[in-house]
Amino acid sequence: MSHHWGYGSQNGPQHWHKEFPIANGEHQSPVDISTKAVTYDPALKPLHLHYDHAASLKILNNGHSFNVEFDDSQDKAVLKDGPLDGVYRLVQFHFHWGSSDKQGSEHTVDKVKYAAESFGKAAQHPDGLAVLGVFLKIDSAKPGLQKVLDMLDSIKTKGKSAAFTGFDPRVLLPESLDYWTYPGSLTTPPLLESVTWIVLKEPITVSSEQMLKFRGLHFNAEGEAEEPMVDNWRPAQPLKNRKIKASFK
Ligand SMILES: [Zn+2]
Repeated sequence: MSHHWGYGSQNGPQHWHKEFPIANGEHQSPVDISTKAVTYDPALKPLHLHYDHAASLKILNNGHSFNVEFDDSQDKAVLKDGPLDGVYRLVQFHFHWGSSDKQGSEHTVDKVKYAAESFGKAAQHPDGLAVLGVFLKIDSAKPGLQKVLDMLDSIKTKGKSAAFTGFDPRVLLPESLDYWTYPGSLTTPPLLESVTWIVLKEPITVSSEQMLKFRGLHFNAEGEAEEPMVDNWRPAQPLKNRKIKASFK
């Protein structure tokens, strides 16, 4: 491909396999969660998120999404139990969203797309990766999200970052931590298949006005032709020989 990967017609998800052959692998993400095909696993433990000492550092437009990055040099904000062995440190969270409220999430539930999906990426050294997915559904505004949205004007273009401390990621969680889990991949290149996916069943709500703020970001760097950052989601990939398990009946 002539350009770096992205979400356009020339460099979007349909093209990624040329530079990243694992795109057609056996454990790719996202997937459609078919609720009829999911199996309840009573052995799955409740998920424990210890985010009370989370230390956000900065917010960055990386040209594909924006990341809120955390200090992961110690066990400050950790994810454990659920389907996981050991402790995973929160590294960053980011979002995928649409050009309209009708689409934007990467995972789908019975083929239904949500307006957006947030991903909390957590790492276990040396190579374990867990990603917590939370759906965003259009309804009333999520007050806790506004702090993040108010930063976006300062990171409009690729490569821009700003200090962003003191953000409590717990405001982005729904009440219930019931989840689906399956083995999958990063949903952006390099698409590595080393991810334990944990997708929460209950969405959080955001308003249409809040979604507009996401769409004010740009894929391009400052001074380049303006490309609104919208539809930065990869479509569902074949489940192949995998089973999705549920922590709830
Ligand atoms: Zn992502």
